[in-house]
Amino acid sequence: VIELDRVRKDFPSRPPVRALADVSLRVDQGDYVAVIGPSGSGKSTLLNVLGLLDRPTSGSYRLDGTETTELADGARTRLRGRRIGFVFQSFHLLAHRTVVENVMLAEIYGDHARKGRRERALAALERVGLGHRVGFLPDRLSGGERQRAAIARALMGEPSLLLCDEPTGNLDSRNTEAVLDLFDELREHGLTILVITHEQEVSDRAARRVRITDGVLVEEA
Ligand code: ATP
Ligand code: MG
Repeated sequence: VIELDRVRKDFPSRPPVRALADVSLRVDQGDYVAVIGPSGSGKSTLLNVLGLLDRPTSGSYRLDGTETTELADGARTRLRGRRIGFVFQSFHLLAHRTVVENVMLAEIYGDHARKGRRERALAALERVGLGHRVGFLPDRLSGGERQRAAIARALMGEPSLLLCDEPTGNLDSRNTEAVLDLFDELREHGLTILVITHEQEVSDRAARRVRITDGVLVEEA
């Protein structure tokens, strides 16, 4: 799914920052990778590059076989919409919309962009175990349920890759477990998951663990 070859990301700040230093990484379909490392080490920068939100300064990034670094902005946006789902620490749910409405608001592209949005949202909510909560407002849900609603929204475009930045950072350990169980289930169905985390219980559940220090990525055994 992911092939990064010597990806470098420099920010032209003063002093300039090398946020990613020749990072190479291969992630196959169904892999579950945890990314760990101290604050400021380059984790979010890596996620932004992988999510086609930012371009590397140099190096190559192939996503599902497509070399992305030279693509025009519009093509990158379409590719992102078709292949990638994002999950963040704060769930970004609209307070005055129901769960199903929030999921329906997902930005998606391609063939399935218009038809059957509501049906697709309901199916996504079933998939994450929230079929009984579709008409609720977000503030009536537990933290874990909110995150699962956000994951359902991320699944609307049928991504091959789910990129998560501290997805359990706002959850207690019971809700963390529920989200991790869901990740296991999604991965068994072929979804590739990459998770940035500070939490040991999250990285312990991942099949692979990579550590970033000062922009240098090293895979741990
Ligand atoms: P945290 O755990 O605190 O979220 P992180 O590992 O996600 O940290 P990044 O946000 O990737 O770290 O930042 C890596 C380095 O790049 C840091 O030194 C940061 O200050 C720098 N950086 C990030 N974004 C920019 C930017 N837009 N302009 C200049 N420097 C940046
Ligand atoms: Mg970060």
